[in-house]
Amino acid sequence: MTSYDIIVIGGGPAGLTAGLYASRGGLKSLLVERGAFGGQMINARAVENYPGFPNGIAGIDLGSLMQEQASKHGLQTLFAEVSQLVPGPRHRIVTTEGTLEARAIVIAAGSQYRQLNVPGEVQFTGRGVSYCAACDGFFFRDQDVAVVGGGDTAVSDALELSHYASRVYLIHRRDQLRAGQVLVRRATAEPKMEFIWNSVVEEVNGDQMVNALKVRNVKTDKVNTLKVSGVFVAVGVVPNSQPFADVLKTDDAGSIIVDQELATLVPGIYAAGDIRQNSPRQIASAVGDGVAATMSALRYLLTRP
Ligand code: NAP
Repeated sequence: MTSYDIIVIGGGPAGLTAGLYASRGGLKSLLVERGAFGGQMINARAVENYPGFPNGIAGIDLGSLMQEQASKHGLQTLFAEVSQLVPGPRHRIVTTEGTLEARAIVIAAGSQYRQLNVPGEVQFTGRGVSYCAACDGFFFRDQDVAVVGGGDTAVSDALELSHYASRVYLIHRRDQLRAGQVLVRRATAEPKMEFIWNSVVEEVNGDQMVNALKVRNVKTDKVNTLKVSGVFVAVGVVPNSQPFADVLKTDDAGSIIVDQELATLVPGIYAAGDIRQNSPRQIASAVGDGVAATMSALRYLLTRP
């Protein structure tokens, strides 16, 4: 079995930074990623709040630059899915490419989109139901669309969609947005935007493609049909912590509980980025987490030659 000093699980900004610090620190390091490098940021057409890029940068480009930099410093990478973590004097991970072991592990496996879990959602995914306005908004030029959610993602998705669509309905389950004030101000000033408050989507309807939503007002229980060609679901994320949940402590939302050093309750295992509890869920904070977790791991390894 191949043995490493550090294995990093996940190739988003937290994982790629952890991998950079581990390999640059002279450790035998491996990063395991199941999909593409960059994590969720590959869906962002323009990242404007990551320092160092005054004109913004496409998320996919930022991801490949981070990967290139880590590889330059000797980080090895493996495309595989991790299914199990087995703690021990040397921790083991079971992957689709076999079992690997390391003295320290940094879990930076991120999160995935939360679903509405209503009839029609799965059936019409890719045919009018989308979780990524930056990826799919273009296809809804001059059409009416809806966005579900009230957080930063929902409001910024709705604003992005207003560049293409003729009308954008924002459906939120309460009468107050969770999103930050700057986005809220922009959204309320956008003439194409219409807010549907205190409402939830009960069903996605269509034939070949989405053509309507059944929307229920949670105060009156009245159900209306909203004619739209697309619905963008932006109701938050679920941490990808399932393979680790029987070994590490997680909170009710499934986020891995860590201390100030990003250490889990198992010595030598750390969590960084969106997967850990209380993450600000920003690219810049994920990068900071990658640094902090790896520096903690390096200190831990020094005490265990
Ligand atoms: P979020 O902040 O967790 O917001 C999720 C929204 O979906 C909330 O408004 C929530 O309603 C609603 N919701 C949750 N489950 C629902 C359900 N089953 N049905 C209907 N509505 C539901 O998630 P997010 O907007 O994806 O943001 C995640 C993090 O990324 C946040 O920390 C955010 O600040 C950050 N972010 C930042 C930016 C930026 O530009 N700076 C952009 C995107 C994301 P309630 O409000 O009633 O709970």
